[in-house]
This record gives sequence, C-alpha cells and structure tokens, in this order.
Amino acid sequence: MVENKRGLLLVISGPSGVGKGTVCNALLENSDDTVVSVSATTRKPREGEIHGENYYFYTEEKFKEMIAQDELMEWACFCGNYYGTPRTPVLEALKQGKNVILEIEVQGALKVKSKYPEGVFIFVLPPSLEELRNRLEGRGTESKEVVEERLQTAIKEIQQSIKYNYFVVNDTVEQATSDIKTIINAEKARVERCNFKDEF
Ligand code: ADP
Ligand code: 5GP
Repeated sequence: MVENKRGLLLVISGPSGVGKGTVCNALLENSDDTVVSVSATTRKPREGEIHGENYYFYTEEKFKEMIAQDELMEWACFCGNYYGTPRTPVLEALKQGKNVILEIEVQGALKVKSKYPEGVFIFVLPPSLEELRNRLEGRGTESKEVVEERLQTAIKEIQQSIKYNYFVVNDTVEQATSDIKTIINAEKARVERCNFKDEF
C-alpha cells in the first residue's frame, strides 16, 4: 500500500571516545540494509586499522586533491588531521535503498545538514565527562596530549549538539543501539518519506 524505497542518510556525531564506533558496529550486526561510509583521513592508522575498511588513509597531498576534484561531500580538520566523506559511494548506496551512516564530527555534520536537510542527525552523549575521559584514556590509542586536546574539543562539540535532531546517551551499548534503531524505524515511517503504491 505504501513504500519507502530510498535509504536514510544517518549522521552520527559525538565526542571522541563516546563510543560512536562501538555503537555503529553493533548497529551493523544483523542488519543488511545499513552500511557505514568509509571516510578518508590524513590521520595515521591505529594498530589494527585497515586501509579501505576503517578509513582510506591518505597523504595530505592526496586529500587536498580529492577536495580540488570535488570528490568529498564534506570534509573538516579535527585535532590537526583532515577527515572527509567520499560522495559517490554514499549516493550509490542511498539509491540502492540502503541506510547510510556517516560517523563524522560536528563541523562536517553541519555542512551535510545544510546540503541534505532530509538526513537524520543524531548526537551521542556520554553519561558524564568523567566517563568520557575514562573511555578515551581506556582505549589507549592516543597520547596524553591528544587525549586532552580531544576532551577540550568535546566540550565545544557538545555545545553544538542542539543543532542535531536527536540525542542518544551511550550508557550501555545495548541501550544506545536500541535507541538508534528506534529512531531509524520512526524516521522511515514518516509520511513525507513514503509514497503510495500505484494501486491507489
Ligand atoms: P569513538 O568512536 O566515539 O571515538 P569508541 O567506539 O572507539 O569511541 O569507544 C571508545 C572506548 O569506549 C572503547 O574502548 C570502547 O570499547 C569503549 N566503550 C564504548 N561504548 C561503551 C559503553 N557503553 N560503556 C563502556 N565502554 C564503552
Ligand atoms: P578518529 O581519529 O577518532 O577516528 O576520528 C576523529 C573524529 O573525526 C571523530 O569525531 C570522527 O567521527 C570524525 N570523522 C571521521 N570521519 C570523518 C569524516 O569523513 N568527516 C568528518 N567531518 N569527520 C570525520
């Protein structure tokens, strides 16, 4: 009777260490209609990170070439490194009816919002700033200086979070994942995203 063939563009932001990556991985489990966009970055790979899977790890020169060729749907500089979303794979996946998650920081997310207001913008909050520090330090992937820089940036990002559509608190991964699934289901059912089939 009604159908919604186009996938949702989901933008998920939140301070570094809040658990965005963990929650996105949990969302992908048992979900073949959702994909996560693989970003380009000039950051050095962490131990275990794979080129083409976690990120496309590029030199600054190559990254700037992608900007010049207009290959990125958004990009930003975060704590000294460039990050950006290759446009073509995102648009292709949406056309195929997949939900596409962009796990990106605030400046880039707000650029996407101005160009794709039909996207769904979710900000993931930590239960407390103390817990955010614990998670960032506990992950053990950044130096002490970089942890401090990311925590300072976190405060500025949280101040911008009111520009998003939804807050999700990542207290437990299970609850945060379930909250995001609820948001996806509700957004997919919005009248303005659905068409009546030809029979009407
Ligand atoms: P982000 O992608 O936002 O930078 P990560 O997904 O890498 O964050 O998570 C940061 C750290 O916090 C990781 O060590 C992860 O295992 C842990 N973590 C994520 N979610 C939770 C949670 N709900 N409770 C406790 N630890 C968490
Ligand atoms: P990390 O270095 O911890 O992997 O990522 C640092 C920050 O960059 C995180 O907030 C992450 O969401 C963000 N990020 C990752 N990919 C992109 C991207 O393509 N564009 C933007 N604007 N931010 C990104």
